[in-house]
Amino acid sequence: MPHPTEITSLVEGLSEKDIKLIEKAYNFAQIAHEGQLRGSGEPYFNHVFETAKILAELGMDTKTIVAGLLHDVLEDTQTPEETLKKEFGEEIVMLVNGVTKLGKMKYTGAERHVESLRKFFMAMANDLRVLIIKLADRLHNVRTLQYVKPEKQRRIALETIEIHARLADYIGMGKLKGELEDAAFPYAYPEAYLQVEKLLAENSNSNKEQLEIVSKELTNELKEQGVNVIEISTRAKHKYSLWIKINKHDMDISKVYDLVALRIIVKDIEKCYQTLGIIHGLFKPVPGRIKDYIATPKKNGYRSLHTTIFTGNGGIIEVQIRTPEMHAEAAYGVAAHFVYKDQKKQAVTFNPNQKIEWMDKLKEIHKIIDKPDKFLEHLKMDLFNDRIFIFTPQGDVIDLPVDSSAIDFAYSIHSDIGNHTQAVTINHKMVPLHTKLKNNDIVEIITNKNANPSSKWLEYTKTTMAKKHINAYLKENSLLSKFRSFAKF
Ligand code: MN
Repeated sequence: MPHPTEITSLVEGLSEKDIKLIEKAYNFAQIAHEGQLRGSGEPYFNHVFETAKILAELGMDTKTIVAGLLHDVLEDTQTPEETLKKEFGEEIVMLVNGVTKLGKMKYTGAERHVESLRKFFMAMANDLRVLIIKLADRLHNVRTLQYVKPEKQRRIALETIEIHARLADYIGMGKLKGELEDAAFPYAYPEAYLQVEKLLAENSNSNKEQLEIVSKELTNELKEQGVNVIEISTRAKHKYSLWIKINKHDMDISKVYDLVALRIIVKDIEKCYQTLGIIHGLFKPVPGRIKDYIATPKKNGYRSLHTTIFTGNGGIIEVQIRTPEMHAEAAYGVAAHFVYKDQKKQAVTFNPNQKIEWMDKLKEIHKIIDKPDKFLEHLKMDLFNDRIFIFTPQGDVIDLPVDSSAIDFAYSIHSDIGNHTQAVTINHKMVPLHTKLKNNDIVEIITNKNANPSSKWLEYTKTTMAKKHINAYLKENSLLSKFRSFAKF
């Protein structure tokens, strides 16, 4: 039987009030889901409990954890929204509603829609916490995929890799990304997964030895030179990202140098560079493999120094050097911007659950306005400025510029559909072709092989693609009519 302390013990610095609230949500969800079972035969409550645990492990704030416990009550139980609001307040209801809304999305496997779907997800999750709850929910669902019907397993697994993992990566939550991919990997690409397992088994021992030797030697040398190592550890590459990498190297695992990497955490940036120098004094670096992600962070904010070294006895390993704040950032990403925002500063000791001091630094680095919400707003603005998300009756999502019409939509599906558009329904009602579309409209195009574009359409279109096709048609057609009228004589 699960217990609320399994959640609360994962988070440091919870107040009495926080703990009470989590316990209350725990009891509420347990009663609400009473009698419901998962495909595994377990009580349904276990799912929301595990989701909340994942959120606690990610260092999320109390409200997010509470919403994680309650995330399925509105959709899957008889609980009225009013009751939830009365018991837990508006913010929690907003989060739960957001998660429910995201749950209605589906993935049809059409490659070209994946990007739209990803953007749509981000746009719908108007509070980033909604997205993170959804990702935690998904992580537990893929971890229990063995209980799902085989024909559904692959679709869910692919969707997880294509959509959810990439979203996690996008917001810089590297740990969550790796976990989502690895849980989905065996179902998405079963043969590849077996191959990776085999390769790893064959290579594990030699790598381990190399790492131990290098790790020992380095620790001693660093100590001698006055660099205090906060943590030195090895990290095995996530299996799915390993697969992607081996593919890039023609299936030659020996070319993948970061199969296992040595990770060194030191106090500050200065010490990072000093450590790099010391390493290169001790081991010969592989040319072209020194990466300074501190001076030039990755797009998602990732910072570290990477180098690959010859161990001297035939091996090659990667070393990653970073500060405690970079280390936590790499795991928690954007989430770092709003977790524990209410807490006062505490002593700076490295602890992934205690992200107070470095959060401030992070803001400094990104030159972010003092409010985390503002930061999220910015993030959204950049991405979704002027885009609307339109559904086909089959549930595919197409993203278009604001003020697009049904004609734009028709052309974005296929030029043939555009060229033969006769009528359109928006949300199942017949409307004129030039009607401007609104976010989340469901649009159906009715075609007729005798219907054709007219020059009027150019006024009603926003996208270059539609204009291009209409112009092409008009040009061809006027030539044709000239030719025809000429042919009459
Ligand atoms: Mn769920």
